[in-house]
Amino acid sequence: MRACVKTAMGKTEMLDLPVPKAGPGEIVIKTAMCTVCGSDMHWLDDTPNEVLAVLAPGSLTPQGFPMGHEGVGTVHEVGPGVTRVQVGDRVIPSCLVGCGRCPECLHGDFSVCTGGGRILFGCQAEYFVVPYADVNVAKVPPEVSDENAILATDIMSTGFGAIDRAELKSGDSVAIFAQGPLGLCATAGARARGAGLIITVESIPERIEMSKRLGANIVINPKEKDPVSEIMNLTDMQGVDVTVEAVGTQATFDGATRAVRRGGTVSSVGVYGPVPQISMFTMTPAFYHRRIVTTLCPSGHDRMTHMLNLLRWGSVDLGPLFTHRMRLADTPKAYDLFRSKQGGVLKIAITP
Ligand SMILES: [Zn+2]
Ligand SMILES: [Zn+2]
Repeated sequence: MRACVKTAMGKTEMLDLPVPKAGPGEIVIKTAMCTVCGSDMHWLDDTPNEVLAVLAPGSLTPQGFPMGHEGVGTVHEVGPGVTRVQVGDRVIPSCLVGCGRCPECLHGDFSVCTGGGRILFGCQAEYFVVPYADVNVAKVPPEVSDENAILATDIMSTGFGAIDRAELKSGDSVAIFAQGPLGLCATAGARARGAGLIITVESIPERIEMSKRLGANIVINPKEKDPVSEIMNLTDMQGVDVTVEAVGTQATFDGATRAVRRGGTVSSVGVYGPVPQISMFTMTPAFYHRRIVTTLCPSGHDRMTHMLNLLRWGSVDLGPLFTHRMRLADTPKAYDLFRSKQGGVLKIAITP
């Protein structure tokens, strides 16, 4: 089968790999659609293969690391012991797979599993394996499109998770720093959860438009205005109830910590990648009394089912995030496009 493999730092190639077999507890999915995500860029550009081998044991092939952690498709093979899905079911897998048995998984925190869970890999191929399938796979209702379903595996769950874990209440004000695909999902999540005022911070014109479409009341362009001063002006110098950091830089984290009201919540979901440490501005009253919460993609069957329920019944349509379509053979070009942020690119629907 054809598969996109990281053969060197920053470089992917389409190679022929054997179709994987389903071991105990595993399934093999025949890919209907996959996509490129910001985390893929970190795996490709910043993360040595030795580190990927730790994050995803068993992943490395002689040629390199099989890319892709966001996919949707039909069950092709069911391994021994899997009881909840059958061959032919249309399913999505969590991008972070938990074992289902360790203390973290039993607590519902599948994404920080310590019992053998790992990042999913190899979705940018004709077939890929999902371990602990009974824990990490959800069936997709026929009403939900591939585009919407695939977002429930990662960035929708993460973006909505930023809002859920901030415990945003009806009518709360929120400021979301950065409107890439993840930040846009946080904006949609804030709107779905009943936020009052939604302020977003973004400079790319197409992303500004999409931010308004998905629920932002006001978009601040940081190239034109200082976001923190502007947020203070918009809230009678109080700050917002919730801020969300959605890209993973010191500047946006700093903005999020300074624009929240006293007693409010800073919710960080950006992936800081190679940034080894972030610092906090302490010379502000809000520093001494507020919550800071971080969230790594809430995962597992139940979480994805909740996301699918929103997509099916909740009038949430994230399909517009798919700005480009490509064939699997062109996946290396999809990486170049996604990295460039040119042409209004947000999500790229890649089909075999
Ligand atoms: Zn992702
Ligand atoms: Zn676990």
